[in-house]
Amino acid sequence: MKAKDIAQLLDEPACEHNKKEKSGCAKTKPGATAGGCSFDGAQIALLPIADVAHIVHGPIACAGSSWDNRGTRSSGPTLYRLGMTTDLTDNDIIMGRGEKRLFHAIKQAIDSYRPSAVFVYNTCVPALIGDDIEAVCKAAEKRWEVPVVPVDCAGFYGTKNLGNRIAGEAMVKYVVGTREPDPKPENTPFTIHDVNLVGEYNIAGEFWHVLPLLDRLGLRVLCTLSGDARYREVQTMHRAEVTMMVCSKAMLNVARKLEDTYGTPWFEGSFYGISDTSQALRDFARIINDPDLTIRTEQLIASEEARIKAALEPWRARLQGKRVLLYTGGVKSWSVVSALQDLGMVVVATGTKKSTEEDKARIRELMGEEAQMIDDGNPRALLNIYREQKADILIAGGRNMYTALKAKIPFLDINQEREFGYEGYEGMLELVRQLALTIESPIWPAVRQAAPWRVASAA
Ligand code: SF4
Repeated sequence: MKAKDIAQLLDEPACEHNKKEKSGCAKTKPGATAGGCSFDGAQIALLPIADVAHIVHGPIACAGSSWDNRGTRSSGPTLYRLGMTTDLTDNDIIMGRGEKRLFHAIKQAIDSYRPSAVFVYNTCVPALIGDDIEAVCKAAEKRWEVPVVPVDCAGFYGTKNLGNRIAGEAMVKYVVGTREPDPKPENTPFTIHDVNLVGEYNIAGEFWHVLPLLDRLGLRVLCTLSGDARYREVQTMHRAEVTMMVCSKAMLNVARKLEDTYGTPWFEGSFYGISDTSQALRDFARIINDPDLTIRTEQLIASEEARIKAALEPWRARLQGKRVLLYTGGVKSWSVVSALQDLGMVVVATGTKKSTEEDKARIRELMGEEAQMIDDGNPRALLNIYREQKADILIAGGRNMYTALKAKIPFLDINQEREFGYEGYEGMLELVRQLALTIESPIWPAVRQAAPWRVASAA
């Protein structure tokens, strides 16, 4: 990828900061890829497309250390869970065999698994030695008549977020618009509207809490980029009436390009919490602007909110007033705050390391001007805040789990490795159940007591 293409991706016009004096995302600094390189970001963004063979072109470590690190689920094909790599060795690099190996890897993937398409991810080593993956993909596509999409996302290009954008760019450039959607069902009692979701990864199957609501409203999801998606769905994204950016600005370029090229409007929303879920449904209706849909949306929201509030009531009493230290990145820093406040809990501080200025403004709106925002989430700082604020639980990503467990404090995993889905109204029930089980677990008083042999020796 050329430097000017990378600069263009970093200078996304739809980004909030570009509306101010200082434009463009921060340039990558040494060490920035420690939280995930561009390849990692691109793979995370596209791997959930379930019927595609995802080939990592590079030494084994790139695929090995990034494979299967998300709990994204598929309702059908499981091809995406097979780790495929060209496994370049020193000899391949010295002898210039990289492109040949890639060509054969594509052939093997097609012969063995008959995928709907093959995605090829470039990594640092082949990018440095100048393998032309675009030419190899083109030749392979012509030879085997299966779409082969190059994703030029070498790790050293920049951060994980840049990788997300590169992935989105590849979809817009090579896939979107190459097929028309299936005809809409006939004789339905109301008009069916087509929509897209971008940045929805179906972690722990949580989108399946939301999909039935969209079905009931007659909103046909052409594609979720990329949770539980199929290649043929990505091809049809250009025909949606509206795109929702779900909890992530990472692939903002996809939404913006769909708007620029096909006139598809977009909005940003979240399915975490009762109020945000209802707001997202309202935003669909508002933008589609079908009066019948608006009425049915309000009816659905009223009945679902009443149902879920009744179901939450017994739990609310157990969680009311409990204090939460939330340390998660980006949009989740505010969308989860609002979900917890829906439950009557007090969020004492929230992480903002990966949050944009707009995210921070929303946090202030929800938590007040005095909201404590944590930029540096090193373990000691987190534990200090936890104790100062007298928190009852730490909600964070999996990498903070051992910090919490060693400090013997209740911990709930909120990031991509989590095992439970929290989206939608039903997801709130799951969240509340997990919160109560974690905070009330008898393990905490047990582990905080002195060990019996210490008590005995002191006596
Ligand atoms: S692409 Fe580069 S930075 Fe990323 S895992 Fe591979 S070698 Fe490391």
